[in-house]
Amino acid sequence: MIVGASLAGVRAARAARHAGHTGTIILIGAEEHLPYDRPPLSKTFLTHSSDHPAAHEPDEQAHPPAPAVLMAEDELRDDLGVDLRLGVTATGLDTDSRELLLHDQQRLPYDRLIIATGATARRWPTTTHLAGLHYLRTLDDARALRAALARTTNLVIIGAGFIGSEVAATATQHGIHATIVETQDTPLAHAVGQTAGTALARLHTQAGTTLKCGVQVTDFSGTGHIEQVHLSDGSVLPADTVLVGIGAVPTTGWLTDSGVALDDGVACDPYLATSAPGVYAAGDLARFPHPRREGTLRLEHWTAAAEQGAHAARNAITTAAPTRYEPVPYVWSDWYSHRIQIIGDPHTDQPSTLIGDPDTGQFTVLYRHNNHITAALAVNQPRAIAKLRRLITQKAPWADALTQTTTLNPPATPPAGSRTESRAT
Ligand SMILES: Cc1cc2nc3c(=O)[nH]c(=O)nc-3n(C[C@H](O)[C@H](O)[C@H](O)COP(=O)(O)OP(=O)(O)OC[C@H]3O[C@@H](n4cnc5c(N)ncnc54)[C@H](O)[C@@H]3O)c2cc1C
Repeated sequence: MIVGASLAGVRAARAARHAGHTGTIILIGAEEHLPYDRPPLSKTFLTHSSDHPAAHEPDEQAHPPAPAVLMAEDELRDDLGVDLRLGVTATGLDTDSRELLLHDQQRLPYDRLIIATGATARRWPTTTHLAGLHYLRTLDDARALRAALARTTNLVIIGAGFIGSEVAATATQHGIHATIVETQDTPLAHAVGQTAGTALARLHTQAGTTLKCGVQVTDFSGTGHIEQVHLSDGSVLPADTVLVGIGAVPTTGWLTDSGVALDDGVACDPYLATSAPGVYAAGDLARFPHPRREGTLRLEHWTAAAEQGAHAARNAITTAAPTRYEPVPYVWSDWYSHRIQIIGDPHTDQPSTLIGDPDTGQFTVLYRHNNHITAALAVNQPRAIAKLRRLITQKAPWADALTQTTTLNPPATPPAGSRTESRAT
């Protein structure tokens, strides 16, 4: 039984079959749509083939734009033999009787269960009666945002995280005036540190997106629809559309009282098994022991969800010989014409070193712990990324990593001037 018919869930179904499971696989998903890929929703999906998103808009009401599906329906149902149940919501779990509870009061028995209900966009803390406030997590969210962008001159994005930054890039590229409002002084500092955050911020300002950092949104005003966004520094931004991009929350509400241990997500052991017998977790909600440090890790990235779905399913099927999940995390993000790639886990309390010149749009930030490289963030460095992955996997000495990265990406100015070392806060 797999709950959550998205990336982790689909990969779990496929891996279970490939691992030799010949019994029933039921894949339950709350959304009515066939499992689809989320990354395009903040990128190409929001725009049309013509220059401005307004083109073709009337057609879309009759024929809403289609997403990229993760697997064709006949492949899932016929080739893999998956009992796919869409538009079905799990409301609870009885781990004593090993039954899944559904919204229509049905109880479905399971031998093994994989929890893959992902995450939900974090909501804005106050309510507004005004229209024009958007979130971006689901296909329905993306269709609504896409339609709104077609009528938007001024877009305000709350939060300079990956989703907000990608939408800002897409909108700016299509002639919309996009402003990002961020409470931190440096975008993404909590995720990638001060050095990388400052360098990434330049990609926005160079492209013409307005970035307002160190301020908060305090209110919205307008007549029926948001027309202005009020900030804590007293300024007021004109806005036709507002996107709230302040992170995601693991979808674990339905597991309350189930006996499955929760800890900002579902608490797992290194095998992705939960505290309940026969129950595993995978994807954006799975929290597992950090393979290289103290503490735990929860990743909200495509590669992790895909890997974990398959890993959890294999361990659920082959319980006699489970394997530990010990990833080197990987994430990509596309802003404007830039490809950002992060390998490893760049904890922001580690020193980081910038190599290259952010003004050229080509640079790398390396992260160290003691005398080893632990993570890297590379912008427009497709050749470097495989080598960086190898260095991080091997826990290569810092000096080697520095030399090899500098060779791949020579600084635009002499090293002493272009390299900054800082301890990110
Ligand atoms: C707009 C957007 C852009 C992204 N871009 C990138 C990117 O460029 N690079 C990258 O690395 N990652 C990106 N990601 C992240 C990546 O898409 C996620 O990490 C991945 O989708 C997580 O997969 P998942 O299966 O764990 O969860 P989800 O994709 O969140 O799927 C969970 C599914 O479970 C269903 N569900 C929830 N509760 C229940 C319930 N009670 N009963 C039944 N079903 C339920 C939900 O409806 C949903 O379909 C992006 C995410 C978004 C939203």
